[in-house]
Amino acid sequence: MIDNHGRTVNYVRLAITDRCNLRCFYCMPEAGIAFAERSLLLTYEEMERLVRVLVGLGVDKVRLTGGEPFVRRDFMPFLERLAAIEGIRKIGLTTNGTLTAPHVPDLKRLGIGPVNLSLDTLHPRRFFEITRRDEFTHVWSTLEALMEHGMEVKINMVVMQGRNETDILEMAALTRHLPVSIRFIEEMPFNGEGQHYTAWRWDFVRIVEHLRSAYPQLTKLPDPPNSTAYHYAIPGHRGNIGIIAAYTRTFCGTCNRLRVTPQGLLKTCLYDSGIFNIRDLMRAGASDAELADSILEAVAHRAKDGHEAEANRFAGLPVTESMTTIGG
Ligand code: SF4
Repeated sequence: MIDNHGRTVNYVRLAITDRCNLRCFYCMPEAGIAFAERSLLLTYEEMERLVRVLVGLGVDKVRLTGGEPFVRRDFMPFLERLAAIEGIRKIGLTTNGTLTAPHVPDLKRLGIGPVNLSLDTLHPRRFFEITRRDEFTHVWSTLEALMEHGMEVKINMVVMQGRNETDILEMAALTRHLPVSIRFIEEMPFNGEGQHYTAWRWDFVRIVEHLRSAYPQLTKLPDPPNSTAYHYAIPGHRGNIGIIAAYTRTFCGTCNRLRVTPQGLLKTCLYDSGIFNIRDLMRAGASDAELADSILEAVAHRAKDGHEAEANRFAGLPVTESMTTIGG
């Protein structure tokens, strides 16, 4: 699939559920959001069908996100079925790690990876302040299990002024002994309320400068094609560092991804408000060929970048969704 800006589209991020057992303040209001009724979610059968159609169009990389995928019942059997689809080169998983540890041996057996673990601090008390749940030890057990099984792991830390900027250097120090990629992410406005700041305090430039103040030998690594992160290494460390300009949106020129929300909304950019609903089309009896045509049509009209996508949102309304309803 090639879009109207010449970008190959071969990657889909599929959100399994909008539910999550954490309440991270940058993702959801404290009281949570109005979660979708089960009947409105894509069923596992519909998701599997959709993935098969997408694979037929050239998608070879799938990432499963949420909400938190493991809060949806029967997620592992679904993963087994997905892993059996021919033509998928990579199945990645994004998880908050609270329920994941017992499943790590099966994730390994199925060849799932990389596993992106959301972890914004190394301090249990701060973890509670950010997530409003006391789950740090479970997340840490997941990290240990992933390391024990030799899985490829990326730790995603959203950098937030006044909340966890003091964790940046401690997180970077983890790469000394652990072969993980620590990814510092600019905070985005997807918290169910809209933008928290009038000016972004921790953009990727400032994060790099901060890292360099402690590690002057910080070295730029080549970024893989379609990467959304700027990669760095600290000489002598086993892991590496990625910085994701998720708000600044500097990597749209090579964007290869589609998103599907738990309710089946196809998004051709994180910042758009949804192109069409795949669930509705499927439930109205569309054939695989009709689904494929609709997807190709959407890909043929993608916004050139996240700024254009945001400007084109319905009625020009600003972003107010929660990340848990989008899938990150
Ligand atoms: S902002 Fe939109 S176009 Fe840019 S990289 Fe993200 S999803 Fe792709």
